[in-house]
Amino acid sequence: MSKCMVCGDEFDPQYKAQRLCQSCLDKFTKRYWDWDAYRKQGYTRRPTCIVCDKPMMSGFSVCPDCRDVWKKIYYQIVRPKTIIQARNRMKRTRDKAIEAAVESRLRTGLDDDIAAARKAGLSYGAYMVRKKGLVR
Ligand SMILES: [Zn+2]
Ligand SMILES: [Zn+2]
Repeated sequence: MSKCMVCGDEFDPQYKAQRLCQSCLDKFTKRYWDWDAYRKQGYTRRPTCIVCDKPMMSGFSVCPDCRDVWKKIYYQIVRPKTIIQARNRMKRTRDKAIEAAVESRLRTGLDDDIAAARKAGLSYGAYMVRKKGLVR
């Protein structure tokens, strides 16, 4: 169990470095992307602080009191995506490596049988039937 750095609730982290509970994470992730979309429309300033909702007197997206907290929240909402992406990428690479290993093992196994069949003066099919014990 970890304690949420924003609301203080206890939660089960989904990943090791999670410091925000899921509801805060969702809330701030949405706020961040809404604000991002807003900014793309040409707005440069939020009317209220992105963290505490107090009217903004200075700054653009976060009040001076929340600046440090927002930095941490921002890290939390942007970072997990990269962690998950990295993990998926690692998994994909690993899957591919396993696939390649299995494939090459199959191929060498097949080559061995073909070589053995040739040595025994049999066709590959006949050799495999004999090997499997179907014909003695
Ligand atoms: Zn929370
Ligand atoms: Zn604030």
